[in-house]
Amino acid sequence: MNSLDPRSLIAMGGFMALVMGLVLGFMRRYYPPSILGLGYWALAPAAWLIATVFFAAPGPWLQEVGRWLGNGLILLGFILFHVGCRRFFERPVQWRRIVIPFALVMLSLAWFAGPEPSYRMRVAIVTAAIAVTHTSTLVFLWQSGNRNFPVRMVQATLALHLCVLLVRLQTVLSVPEVGDLMEASTVQTYYLGAYVLAVLLLSIGAVLMATDRVRTELEHMATHDALTGTLNRRAILECCADEHERSLRYKQPFALMMIDLDHFKTINDTHGHQHGDRVLVHFADSTRSALRRADRFGRYGGEEFLILLPNTAADVALPVAERIRAALSAGHALDCQASIGLTHWRGPEDTLDAMLGRADAALYQAKAQGRNQTCST
Ligand code: GH3
Ligand code: MG
Ligand code: MG
Repeated sequence: MNSLDPRSLIAMGGFMALVMGLVLGFMRRYYPPSILGLGYWALAPAAWLIATVFFAAPGPWLQEVGRWLGNGLILLGFILFHVGCRRFFERPVQWRRIVIPFALVMLSLAWFAGPEPSYRMRVAIVTAAIAVTHTSTLVFLWQSGNRNFPVRMVQATLALHLCVLLVRLQTVLSVPEVGDLMEASTVQTYYLGAYVLAVLLLSIGAVLMATDRVRTELEHMATHDALTGTLNRRAILECCADEHERSLRYKQPFALMMIDLDHFKTINDTHGHQHGDRVLVHFADSTRSALRRADRFGRYGGEEFLILLPNTAADVALPVAERIRAALSAGHALDCQASIGLTHWRGPEDTLDAMLGRADAALYQAKAQGRNQTCST
């Protein structure tokens, strides 16, 4: 493989850092503030960009200082990337565990530049420090449990860069003299090429992670009720339509439950609208706890809710309804009463509209019979 000019590679890394820093900076400015970590992710390319400038410092003395700061900034960039990941997943950052080792690395780099000059030791220290940072980012991302494409891409980039770093570390430690950073050699080309690629791919990974989070948040907003966190009317009806289609194909029964809170207007009138809102939230939480994972729960409108029980026969649905009502009388200050109308799929001739009509009629019957009860048809 032809060896590329190290200066060109470093300049390329700087250019990519500039572009990605600008992109991440704009994202930090215009993306919702709920997306954390973008500020640190934008600072990482900024550190890499400034490092490029320092590496270009002229003259023997300035060059030494420039390389010291440049190496420090490259390491700082990867540390900032790690911090960005922690913030993104809303995990605390233990600054003491970052600042102290970083200061020690900088001091030892200064030691091997000034009093005890050793280019080999400096390369080894920087490489090892970046390798440790990558490892902790990898472990953190693994523990975060996220396995979507952007996270996997960042993990793969870190793992590949880590391999290159370890090979370089091994090379540096096994030979007595190493070539200068600016000397073109195959090892240098691989090392700097991997660095440029890491700068680019990690930044793109951060962009994709943030964009994916925005998409997830928007999707959630479009399908969920803001107050209760249940599905909204459109989403729950879509679930019902999907389940109805599945029933037609696989002849699986399913049940629908229409719930309306009793005398809710009185609750509002007596204790105020905000108290009413809290009752609705409590009702949603308590009902959710009485349902299975596969069940779908949505706000049909006002204080009326719709529950879809997939793959559930009529005789199984009734105990679920009673469990919901029982959960509402557990002695909580916000407990309320509810009436429930229950129906089930009667076979291929049964339509979703007919089922919703029957659930509504059953609910009306429960109300007429004195409320706080379940009726099924
Ligand atoms: P019933 O037992 O017959 O169902 O009586 P009700 O008072 O519950 O019935 P009605 O449908 O007359 O009243 C529903 C009330 O729910 C009226 C409306 O102001 C209130 N409501 C609807 N949405 C919300 C909400 O988001 N928050 C609050 N606090 N109240 C709401
Ligand atoms: Mg009501
Ligand atoms: Mg109502």
